[in-house]
Amino acid sequence: MSKPKVNKQKMKELKETADNKRVWHPNFLKYTEFIVGHANYKGLFYERGDDKKVKWVITGKSENGQLRRAWWDTQCKKHGIKLEAGCYAKVALKIHPTKKHTCQICGRELSLEYVYPNKRTITGIKKEFGISVAPFTKDIFQIVNELVKTDADIEKVKRIFKIKPSEKLSKENLKDYLQKYFVESFAKGLLSPGAMSNSPDRFDGYHSDGACCRHESDKGRHKSNLQRYGQDRRVYENWADGDWKMADRLMSLFRKSGISADHIGPISLGFCHRPKFHPLTKAENSAKNNRMSLKDVEVLLEDETTEQIVSWHSKFIWDKLKDKVANDKDAIKLSDLMRKNLHHILIVFSMIDEKGYGKFLEQFLNPEYSFFDYQFEGFNPETGKYKKVTSKKLTGKNQQNNIKRYYRVAFDKLKEYKEIENRKTNIWKHKEVDNEHEKLFVLLKAKKNKEAKAQLENVFKVLANTAESNW
Ligand SMILES: [Zn+2]
Repeated sequence: MSKPKVNKQKMKELKETADNKRVWHPNFLKYTEFIVGHANYKGLFYERGDDKKVKWVITGKSENGQLRRAWWDTQCKKHGIKLEAGCYAKVALKIHPTKKHTCQICGRELSLEYVYPNKRTITGIKKEFGISVAPFTKDIFQIVNELVKTDADIEKVKRIFKIKPSEKLSKENLKDYLQKYFVESFAKGLLSPGAMSNSPDRFDGYHSDGACCRHESDKGRHKSNLQRYGQDRRVYENWADGDWKMADRLMSLFRKSGISADHIGPISLGFCHRPKFHPLTKAENSAKNNRMSLKDVEVLLEDETTEQIVSWHSKFIWDKLKDKVANDKDAIKLSDLMRKNLHHILIVFSMIDEKGYGKFLEQFLNPEYSFFDYQFEGFNPETGKYKKVTSKKLTGKNQQNNIKRYYRVAFDKLKEYKEIENRKTNIWKHKEVDNEHEKLFVLLKAKKNKEAKAQLENVFKVLANTAESNW
């Protein structure tokens, strides 16, 4: 056995435990009892945990997982389904007694058939009918019933589904047609099921979270992955400077004490991720909503005399406006302008990345902090102060993976910015910004790194001037 395989198995086991331990919606609990008790699943292995709940998930590779796999194989044979990729998905739907799945997270019941319009279809409905359909709220038949009144409406649906205009369909025919050619043929691309297939890991052969919550829990997994390492995602997303490793370590000490650590200068405004926080309760922190008070600005000005407090890209706006703050209202004004400015900065980054100069941007990330770990002595969560910090050098695979993750999160954020429509016209009102921006790309093309860096600073200076004119 090669090493990575063992790790992968371990990861899966961790996930399995996490899934079984996740808080179940009461409806999901009822659903699991209904399913394990149903004759259609007779002979499919399961056991109960100490809490008496069904252990719903088992990894396919484990011994018990193999038992489940053998059972699914038998079912395929019994129902005349060839053992090949996708066969479990087919048989899971076939034997499901109600064809309705209950979501583990929100408790909603959704159909397992391909009946829900996906994003593309929802866009089509909006375009043809001017109606917004929320994802996974109505199936396509409910939608047809509600929207189709006239022959012209039938044509609209035909256009959405790219059905030939020559196909003559009444409202009832239309539904039969959709049933036959889309729902029953699992036509991916326009309709989706309410839960994704996952045999033999899950007892019923479906992911525990319904499509209603799939996105949420995916995000959650992503987040918990980072949180397991005590990392603050926003640091990477906002391309923040600062010893993020030391700051992360200190922040997790707050978290362990149930106290939310608040940056004095918020990362989302362009400030550094520094190992210095205000202790706040969670409610206080969310009420603050990433805006600074006069007191915050004063602390930052004081700290600035001894250390870097603002990320290099946001230094230009900070230097232009910091001395104008005279009261809390000004501090809020500064916060809002800096927030907007950071958006502009990330838009500029996203354009650089899009043109293929991602390598140029890598110099603005700080992976080197990954190679140290810190321990704080005499930490007091009430004040956020500590007596002493010691550092330890780290080397190893974990650090390399950390760095990869760091790069990925940072560049994924830029891809998100790429999706923003008219991102350029949102910020570029000045010809001057355009000019500086174009000069930058000339230098990037010529591979003049130093000059390009200076030119990028010029772009940010122009943006800072624009912000000042809005003061
Ligand atoms: Zn749900």
